[in-house]
Amino acid sequence: RAKGDGRGNYRFFEKGMDAAMQHRRAIESGLKLGLTRDEFRLVFQPLMDLESNRISCMEALLRWEHSEMGFISPVEFIPVAEEIGFIVQLGEWVLRQACLTAANWPADIRVAVNLSPVQFKSRRLMDSVRQALEEAGLPPSRLELEITESVLLNDSDQTLETLHALRAMGIRISMDDFGTGYSSLSYLRAFPFDKIKIDRSFIEDVGSTDANFEIIKAVIALGRSLGMATTAEGVETEAQLDAVRAHGCNEIQGFLFSRPLPAKDALELITRLSPIRELEPRLSGNG
Ligand code: C2E
Ligand code: MG
Ligand code: MG
Ligand code: MG
Repeated sequence: RAKGDGRGNYRFFEKGMDAAMQHRRAIESGLKLGLTRDEFRLVFQPLMDLESNRISCMEALLRWEHSEMGFISPVEFIPVAEEIGFIVQLGEWVLRQACLTAANWPADIRVAVNLSPVQFKSRRLMDSVRQALEEAGLPPSRLELEITESVLLNDSDQTLETLHALRAMGIRISMDDFGTGYSSLSYLRAFPFDKIKIDRSFIEDVGSTDANFEIIKAVIALGRSLGMATTAEGVETEAQLDAVRAHGCNEIQGFLFSRPLPAKDALELITRLSPIRELEPRLSGNG
């Protein structure tokens, strides 16, 4: 009997593997089709500047509504797109869409785009960034590129060259999900990031564990001494906001202020909160 059960379990396990493989294959083939079928959308989540209390930037986040499988999270499909190399093409689409969308916002609000390490290492990166900006007529100073520590893992000259070239164009570079990778501190020394985004996992337990709070304080202080701004990711409560504000964090991003919004709602929010849009007609009316 025991042997029989074992075999049964083994078969069940095999079946489970099959289902997972099939799901993965469906994602693989669905990605390319999805791009031609216009199944991808960008949503935009504001970053609030804590000094001016204004939106400084909107992060573009990719959404995929598969025709049969429905909504699939980027956490699931981006690693697959990376493995099959499709992230380069998909990432170019994101860059273009993000720049085109941001070109319609008031001039002082930037757009942040996430770059996959695979996309970052592609030879096409510099050209596709330039092209996206040109096509949209967006000044480079209004683009932020978010990279994770994994981009810097091999720490090659090529990587640093690309980062410097992007920065020389006037593009800002942010270190995303800070604190979740390896050797974070040496990476900060290797490249002058404009912004450090403190990972949500450190913000989550503010108030419940002192250890995370000490880490947040230290990162904010480190950022300040290195001339890098700090953003707290995943701020969901007033207590978290008060805590990061009290220690001089520059920006917050999170559900407390806003969830990621469809482009149309993002524009509405910006227009409602931006003094520039209100001033323009008055200035031209008086002049
Ligand atoms: P990320 O770049 O760190 O983006 C922030 C994620 O945190 C987003 O998840 C956002 O919806 C979520 N978030 C923001 N505020 C809160 C909060 O207060 N509470 C909680 N619980 N979550 C919050 P999302 O959109 O599911 O994206 C997940 C990850 O997928 C991103 O993490 C990024 O690494 C990747 N990703 C998304 N879009 C793109 C893209 O266009 N290109 C690349 N390469 N990666 C992308
Ligand atoms: Mg990001
Ligand atoms: Mg992040
Ligand atoms: Mg994150």
